[in-house]
Amino acid sequence: MAIPDKDTLKEIQERLTLSSRLVWDHLDEAARQQVETYAQEYKAFLDAAKTEREAVLTVQQLAQAHGFVDLASGQDSKKYFVNYRGKTIALVVLGQRPVAEGLRIIAAHIDSPRLDLKQNPLYEDTDLVFLKTHYYGGIKKYQWLARPLALHGVIYRHDGQAITLRLGEDPGDPVLTVCDLLPHLARKAQMDKKVDEAFLGEKLNLLAGSLPLGDKETKERFKLHLLHLLSERYGLTEEDLVSAELEAVPAGPARDVGWDGSLVGGYGQDDRASAFAAVKAILEVNNPPCACLTLLVDKEEIGSAGNTSAQSIFLEELVARLLERQGDAASQRRRALMQSQAISADVAAALDPDWPEVYEKRNAARLGYGVVLTKYTGHGGKYHANDAHAEYINWIRQVFNQAGVIWQAAELGKIDEGGGGTIAKFLAAYGLDIVDCGPALLSMHSPFEIGAKADLYMTARAFGAFLAAKG
Ligand code: MN
Ligand code: MN
Repeated sequence: MAIPDKDTLKEIQERLTLSSRLVWDHLDEAARQQVETYAQEYKAFLDAAKTEREAVLTVQQLAQAHGFVDLASGQDSKKYFVNYRGKTIALVVLGQRPVAEGLRIIAAHIDSPRLDLKQNPLYEDTDLVFLKTHYYGGIKKYQWLARPLALHGVIYRHDGQAITLRLGEDPGDPVLTVCDLLPHLARKAQMDKKVDEAFLGEKLNLLAGSLPLGDKETKERFKLHLLHLLSERYGLTEEDLVSAELEAVPAGPARDVGWDGSLVGGYGQDDRASAFAAVKAILEVNNPPCACLTLLVDKEEIGSAGNTSAQSIFLEELVARLLERQGDAASQRRRALMQSQAISADVAAALDPDWPEVYEKRNAARLGYGVVLTKYTGHGGKYHANDAHAEYINWIRQVFNQAGVIWQAAELGKIDEGGGGTIAKFLAAYGLDIVDCGPALLSMHSPFEIGAKADLYMTARAFGAFLAAKG
């Protein structure tokens, strides 16, 4: 073979080599503006939707503002939403082909790691009032100490009235906090121990008050003061806390991060980064080839069990109802699902330069290099992974390429270093094609997760291209 000249060599290199592309290198001025606009809307979404319930409400409001109607209303429309138990929401845009021929599905989760209040949370100790918690999802417990926490959720009174709580977000609100031990006394209790042994779930108690009611003769007068306050303010009794769902989450808004403001820091970006992109994509899709569905589910962080999770029959029932609206038999629902294409929209782990030892750099997601396609998740030899098929990945990368989407292929960390899963395998059980796809984050599962504005924007572009794609 003759040695190619310099120009030919360059051409060969560009044609044959897969090189990672920094999103910023491929954006013109107008697109850079769109990145920033998207980031501002996204931060507002993170602030409004810190729990699954808040996410469902926020998404429903957005959808209604875009002309989506409740499927249960019986109204004739091309755009529907279904709010299931306030914790799962589906947005549907009907397409040129009937639902019976399959859907284009983007599924993300809207629950995030946090501290849930226990059923009997309230107690006093050493003249201070506390609320006991049980952590939800995979957290590093020490990250939740010594920081302002807000309390979000719903409390049902004995008379049936729901009290919606959002304490600690307004700058004038008090916040709650879990105290940490001072370093001066932490040598044996924390420093000499393994992290798992140094920080215990039963010590994640929220400091909730220090005022007494009555005098020294009054039994548990600090706890009583707080109960009295809850009674005066909301008409609550201690028993009402048994049925309450209260979640302690990091207080305060999402922020721009970096001196250049190019990143977004905030709680719950796993997986509301993907959820918001999936919502934006379906709000903007116009006369798609096939029916589009954005499905936002609950309980992913605790294994997708429960009736609002990806393993519930909600999806099947939703498709049955859509079929009926189009005059087809509900019994076709599984056939329709089997012919569907889906994205399991979830975040990836970005390569952290402080911890290169846990990543395999050739297959690690890089912040700023676009939306991440993850063929398989799982752990230890792809165990419990969906492992998408070659045919499907090939189709989806063509879709992205044709739409000018900047994407990268990656997996979660080094082999046998750990691992994780998504909802992909649960939807795959319907026989549909599905692959994991979403933006990469730093500090995932922490109270302050970091995403790159360029990637967040590119994720919405990718999802839009997927919904609009022919084939
Ligand atoms: Mn996730
Ligand atoms: Mn997660």
